[in-house]
Amino acid sequence: MIDFQHILTSINEAASNEKDKGKIADYIPELAKVNVDNFGIHLIDIQQHNFSAGKSDEQFSIQSISKVLSLSMALGLIGEKVWKRVDVEPSGDPFNHLSLLELENGIPRNPLINPGAIVIADILVSQLKNPKEDFLNYVRNIANDDTIDYDIDVAQSEKRTGFRNFAAANLLKSYGNLKNDVDVVLDFYFHQCSLAMNCVQLTNTFFMFMNNGKCRRNNTFLTVSQVKRINAIMLTCGFYDEAGEFAFEVGLPGKSGVGGGIVAFLPNKFCVSTWSPGLNPKGNSKLGMLALEKLTTETELSIF
Ligand code: GLN
Repeated sequence: MIDFQHILTSINEAASNEKDKGKIADYIPELAKVNVDNFGIHLIDIQQHNFSAGKSDEQFSIQSISKVLSLSMALGLIGEKVWKRVDVEPSGDPFNHLSLLELENGIPRNPLINPGAIVIADILVSQLKNPKEDFLNYVRNIANDDTIDYDIDVAQSEKRTGFRNFAAANLLKSYGNLKNDVDVVLDFYFHQCSLAMNCVQLTNTFFMFMNNGKCRRNNTFLTVSQVKRINAIMLTCGFYDEAGEFAFEVGLPGKSGVGGGIVAFLPNKFCVSTWSPGLNPKGNSKLGMLALEKLTTETELSIF
């Protein structure tokens, strides 16, 4: 029997002793207000035992982690038609890069880089009556937690400074791969990215990806085949141009965000999330990656 609590406690200690904690994302000014010393980790196993260390109950901006949830909702609504508008190949590029988009005629490489997530946001805006409200309810329902909410200050902050996302959306529009108004789609996208969660809420939400599409209450949100597709995309594209490194060091499917959160899981075994706001040069949480590498090395549990 693995002593998860012992391992998480020692990971938390190692993180607080680490001198170089990475650099906070400040291109969204509101994110720069967070203290770089924060560290939290939470793990839930398939039997729903919970283990925590550090600031696992402090909320942060989940940012790009939300792209997995919007993809899930879109897949649930329109099924395989999603793949006509977005591809499933790793980009090998930073999350906000636009060069491939032009080369590949407005079809984003995958749904987890910004242009891909903006296309998914467009699908949701077309499909949903009240997109922001309906998406929030979808997430709350998966997590069984009505306290989860958008952080309006973060959404507004990104709206003021998200010039690259405006560029991406306009480029998509010029290729005919954006059906709705740029402003409407980006308003939804910025809200989606501003979702605030703590490590516990994040593992509760992502429990379904390690549990064949069923949430903690055993309600089905995705088919087994849809979960296979989404988990494969997380493994190959969840960490942008560091997806290879994450698979190499950690060996789990997962997703990161520029708020410093990472969620990762071993199907049918456990789901874990970390929060440490300092990022490495590729935009992934520096100490979060180290923590997860330590976890899978010490437990000898990974998909490989
Ligand atoms: N909202 C952020 C952006 O579009 C998300 C990026 C991220 O978390 N990698 O730039």
